[in-house]
Amino acid sequence: MSLKPVNVNVLIIGASAAGLMCAIEAGKRGRQVMVLDHANKPGKKILMSGGGRCNFTNTDISADNYISRNPHFCKSALSRFTQWDFIALVNEYRIPCHERDLGKLFCDNSASDILDMLLAECKKVKVAIRLDCEVTNIEKTATGVFSTDTSQGIFQSASLVIASGGLSIPKMCASPLGYKVAKQFGHRVWPTAAGLVPFTLQPQDKERLAELSGIAVASSVSNEHIQFNENILFTHRGLSGPAVLQISSYWQPGEAITIDLLPGLDLEGLLKTRQATQANIKLKTLLAEVLPRRLIPAVLGQEAADVPLQALSHARIRKIARQLQHWELKPNGTEGYRTAEVTLGGVDCNELSSRTMESEKVAGLYFIGEVVDVTGWLGGYNFQWAWSSGWCAGQVV
Ligand SMILES: Cc1cc2nc3c(=O)[nH]c(=O)nc-3n(C[C@H](O)[C@H](O)[C@H](O)COP(=O)(O)OP(=O)(O)OC[C@H]3O[C@@H](n4cnc5c(N)ncnc54)[C@H](O)[C@@H]3O)c2cc1C
Repeated sequence: MSLKPVNVNVLIIGASAAGLMCAIEAGKRGRQVMVLDHANKPGKKILMSGGGRCNFTNTDISADNYISRNPHFCKSALSRFTQWDFIALVNEYRIPCHERDLGKLFCDNSASDILDMLLAECKKVKVAIRLDCEVTNIEKTATGVFSTDTSQGIFQSASLVIASGGLSIPKMCASPLGYKVAKQFGHRVWPTAAGLVPFTLQPQDKERLAELSGIAVASSVSNEHIQFNENILFTHRGLSGPAVLQISSYWQPGEAITIDLLPGLDLEGLLKTRQATQANIKLKTLLAEVLPRRLIPAVLGQEAADVPLQALSHARIRKIARQLQHWELKPNGTEGYRTAEVTLGGVDCNELSSRTMESEKVAGLYFIGEVVDVTGWLGGYNFQWAWSSGWCAGQVV
């Protein structure tokens, strides 16, 4: 370890989506860039994303797909470096990719195609990357230079970029460093919470729904803030699937969510019509035409599932339709940061420039990516925020 400080123009902490994008752009401008990471490999979250295929952006991106105390903050960055700019880079590298539902773009082969592309771009512009590097102290000296002490020596830089992400998946090297640095330099940090995360269930619901593990149902999941129409997935731990992950980012402990297991269907009308034509069939037999068979007794109870249609009063039919289409469930909690895809909250946007991501309190200090209080929906939105915010900082650092 050398005791002599290493001088660079730009020091970036975090060698993943936002940090690498910023490094590439700064490197293109001829800046001498060093990226530090305490992990033993860059871009671990990129590699594990999208089930290993990285949902790297979405064809349809707007500020409405993001949660923030300042919903306007992300607009500038998202419009300056758009999904089409990132797609152009992916196409330049001839990375095979495809579009899935709701505009989500994935690699055909592997998320490593995206990471390899970013690392190749870094190499082109001579970005230096130091791994296994622990940051122990950061100071801004009297001369206005940042001095960063690490396990691999001291780095001095005119610009310091914090791209250390949020708290989700500690096993993948997530750490609170970014929030600590923000607080150290006088920034407000909004409380953090796990987002895009499965729900755990109350003991009685867990027991009742345990046998449904593995079943996915196209549903509409809502609360008083928002509604998502995607699959829900029953798991042995609770409830997951895209619609559940989405609503988890809008959920507060103690609140209920409402699930419509048959979105768009007039179930009450259907039950009444079939009662008139097939009075003898059991409720579960009819419902098995539109729902997974095992789900029916679990939600309605075995007694109701076995009732023949002729035995149902109109009031009971209404109640059954409501149970399946307005199913109120109060989650016990979430699986927390252990499995969350993102971290809600973080560095207050109102103290950053929306154009450059520079701190309005400390010149030369920048926050980009997930550490900022901008959290995207499921569907490639979080990576697009990392690319866009990283790109913006990269133009000026
Ligand atoms: C399982 C999973 C799947 C996901 N899939 C998708 C998807 O398909 N599409 C999508 O848009 N989003 C997805 N996300 C979210 C997305 O990965 C993140 O929003 C994105 O990676 C954020 O980028 P970032 O660069 O800000 O932070 P990160 O990617 O988290 O990178 C932060 C970097 O900082 C480093 N670091 C942290 N602390 C320190 C420290 N103390 N010292 C030095 N270095 C440090 C970390 O090692 C890491 O390399 C997924 C997340 C998870 C967990």
